[in-house]
Amino acid sequence: MSNQTAEDWMQEALHEARMAYVIGEVPIGAVIVHDGEIIGRGHNLREHGQDATMHAEIIAIQEACEYLRSWRLEDCQLYVTLEPCLMCSGAIINARIPEMFYGARDPKAGAVRSLYQVMDDTRLNHQVTVHERVLARPAGELLENFFRNIRKRKKAEKKARRAAAEKKLN
Ligand SMILES: [Zn+2]
Repeated sequence: MSNQTAEDWMQEALHEARMAYVIGEVPIGAVIVHDGEIIGRGHNLREHGQDATMHAEIIAIQEACEYLRSWRLEDCQLYVTLEPCLMCSGAIINARIPEMFYGARDPKAGAVRSLYQVMDDTRLNHQVTVHERVLARPAGELLENFFRNIRKRKKAEKKARRAAAEKKLN
């Protein structure tokens, strides 16, 4: 048996998020654990795939289903650095994942606590046990960093354009 804690697994999800970061994708990562072993992992690849469904959780779920040769991910735990969106929450429910851990809340798109609470909705035939704010700080900081850099770059580009335009005028 493994002695890994929820935080240890979330570190693995954070590692995935950093892999997204370095290739310019919004840094979100996920892993799926089964019997103390990672059987699925993924990071956001929306831009590289030009595919709106390529969220970290979806990629990790696909890998885990392939590994278990089953669409049912019973006895699995999913760890993701950011609160899942509606699409991913739907996929987690459909895969019958019993337990989910996430890092930071997503006030703009979160479907687990922020905007909706779909994983607790008893009208659906499956509910998910949710643990939130696991390593929320590093997960949130990674995202903040990413967006701060984008803003900085955009500002620098604007400045360069303005300078070039002024040069032309003189
Ligand atoms: Zn999603």
